[in-house]
Amino acid sequence: MEIDSLRKLYVDELKDLYSAEKQILQALPKMIKKAQNEQLKKAFEDHRQVTEMQVERLDRIFEMLGKAARGKKCKAMEGLIEEGKEMMQEDMDPEVMDAALIGAAQRIEHYEMAGYGTVRTWAQVLGEKEQAKILQQTLDEEGDADKLLTRLAESTINVAAAVEA
Ligand code: FE
Ligand code: ZN
Ligand code: FE
Ligand code: FE
Repeated sequence: MEIDSLRKLYVDELKDLYSAEKQILQALPKMIKKAQNEQLKKAFEDHRQVTEMQVERLDRIFEMLGKAARGKKCKAMEGLIEEGKEMMQEDMDPEVMDAALIGAAQRIEHYEMAGYGTVRTWAQVLGEKEQAKILQQTLDEEGDADKLLTRLAESTINVAAAVEA
């Protein structure tokens, strides 16, 4: 398909995010399992539920647009998750692994924030006010997840990881 308008680019980028969210839903159970710190485990669990709602929001937007959600694979998310998987296979102290998990998760959140910020702005330009509002909601959630991870890292997890065994 030739992308000759911002509207088409918008739909294309929404498909990319849809694929990204689906991949995250596949990856999160492994991260939940791997996390040792209870607060980190819970943060991942909570974000899995939030992510399910984010997928539903995208479904709603595709319905509004009369377009299919499928048809694109987010290669960036594939790469981020692949790096995370490699990292989880390393032989690491559990405290250090928690710090590494936060680093991997924050890369993912930042990628999502960039994507949702972009489509939110495009929705505004295209006059899709309702969609812009829905996308802003998700953008806020990704931001909240990122901030929570920073708080966990700074308050306890990085401190625990820095203690030499
Ligand atoms: Fe998300
Ligand atoms: Zn992507
Ligand atoms: Fe880089
Ligand atoms: Fe997220």
